Amino acid sequence: MTPRFRIRPDLADIPAYTPGRSAPGAIKLASNEVVEGPLPSVVDAITGAAAGGNRYPDNGAVALRSALARRFDTDVAHVAVGAGSVSLCQQLVQATCADGDEVVFAWRSFEAYPIIARVAGATPVPVPLTADHRHDLDAMAAAVTDRTRVVFVCNPNNPTGTVVSEAEFEEFLAKVPADVVIALDEAYFEYNRQPGLPDGSRLFRRHPNVAVLRTFSKAYGLAGIRAGYMLADPELVTAVNKVLIPFSVSSLAQVAAITSLRADDELLARTDGVVKERDRVRNALLDAGHEVPASDANFLWIPAGDAAAALAEKCAEAGVLVRTFPGAGIRVTVTTPDENDAFLAAFL
Ligand SMILES: *Cc1c(COP(=O)(O)O)cnc(C)c1O
Repeated sequence: MTPRFRIRPDLADIPAYTPGRSAPGAIKLASNEVVEGPLPSVVDAITGAAAGGNRYPDNGAVALRSALARRFDTDVAHVAVGAGSVSLCQQLVQATCADGDEVVFAWRSFEAYPIIARVAGATPVPVPLTADHRHDLDAMAAAVTDRTRVVFVCNPNNPTGTVVSEAEFEEFLAKVPADVVIALDEAYFEYNRQPGLPDGSRLFRRHPNVAVLRTFSKAYGLAGIRAGYMLADPELVTAVNKVLIPFSVSSLAQVAAITSLRADDELLARTDGVVKERDRVRNALLDAGHEVPASDANFLWIPAGDAAAALAEKCAEAGVLVRTFPGAGIRVTVTTPDENDAFLAAFL
């Protein structure tokens, strides 16, 4: 189709980000959200901020960045915030890549990475996962060239739930030039239970090229409010702030995040229930003969291949929405026992 406007021709080939499905009354296990709403104290803070909605938010997000700096025992200069951590993923790419520069990531991994790279005019360099659905860090290190600007390491990996160990990550860092930015995407960090996994909030101090990305959308339950953060070298913080859309972290998001941080204990206690359920659901799937990699996130990956679409449709007919990757697999969010039982009944 001939475009009617002077739009970048390459945009026609870039797929739009596909969000998880939702439908009225359906059980939504397609977007890795938590079931419980924000805590009452958080809703109060959001409501209070709404009354001041005529004023612009603090573009420097000083109160939120200070709260995060205190939490991680670092300086505010090491903290950036964005409208969700996907915004910070995009900002990192925009701040580092010009046309033809390369962005390396595992595949399959977070679907936003290739889109973000292409929107920035960069070249996506996907590196296949290993046969056991894990990052192939050796191959990723080997894929780094003079043009590489950013390497995304998603840990735990979305959608497979698999992890890299701290030792593996350190070995990888030693192979990558120290001026290539390593974006350690820890959107599901709070669901990790294995010992020996990297903790970006410690690692960025030792490795100045590591930028750790975390979010309030998942374990903190604020997906609809939009707040995420990055811990990194001040030079990287300054760079991502240059490409931040002014005022994109709303005043509601800023107070919601601050208040949620204060109620941390209560929010993180919810992750224990999900972790327990994660084992139960996985075991039920394994018992039924499905392959399901061990997951350290709030979702499970069923590499069903060509059967994925039909299985997802079967679930949808029973009112349970999962995330389908046609030809590859199904990702299902683990939530409460009732919802998980509904999924198992629909799926098995
Ligand atoms: C959910 C998710 C994010 C962040 O989402 P935001 O809502 O933008 O904070 C980042 N990376 C991965 C891999 C995710 O799954």
